[in-house]
Amino acid sequence: MVIVKRKELSFWERLYLPEVVRGLSVTMRAIFRRKITRQYPEEPLATNEVTRGQPRLAVNEDDTIRCVSCGLCEIACPAYAITIDGQETDRFIEREPERFDIDMLRCILCGFCEEACPKDAIFMSEELELADFSREALVYDIEKLKRPISALQRRSDYVYKLNDRWHSSSSTS
Ligand code: SF4
Ligand code: SF4
Repeated sequence: MVIVKRKELSFWERLYLPEVVRGLSVTMRAIFRRKITRQYPEEPLATNEVTRGQPRLAVNEDDTIRCVSCGLCEIACPAYAITIDGQETDRFIEREPERFDIDMLRCILCGFCEEACPKDAIFMSEELELADFSREALVYDIEKLKRPISALQRRSDYVYKLNDRWHSSSSTS
């Protein structure tokens, strides 16, 4: 049998007063420090053109969807979050999506769909919030994904600027 010898506590040690005073001093110091806690959702996260929120489908000023249902974003998506069914259309683009779903629970906001799209039809929006009461409701269909191009302008300008950088560096090399 092992007998553990415990140190006899002094009267002051048994009062724990030094520890209480030390703990209170830490609390008092913290009270007057600059607060860094964000009061979300009253104080939403700041967004800018670099923000990679949920992907959205761009709609032109004349209310037509830009997507030509080529399926490149569907193939590029590493999370298999996109499902597209195309259909023919009389419009100049000839094809457009009949069904365009993104499973937001799968989406990892990687932006590959935006990079893959040859028609500037899908952009990462500044929409970050995602909440609902069922998994099915978080599979966004075409109507939930559509956004006027003006709502995606900041991101699209940024993407064009990025692409221009690659164009100009490859033309100078
Ligand atoms: S952001 Fe990435 S994961 Fe989300 S739909 Fe686009 S390619 Fe898929
Ligand atoms: S890559 Fe662009 S044009 Fe092609 S299906 Fe996706 S969003 Fe539509």
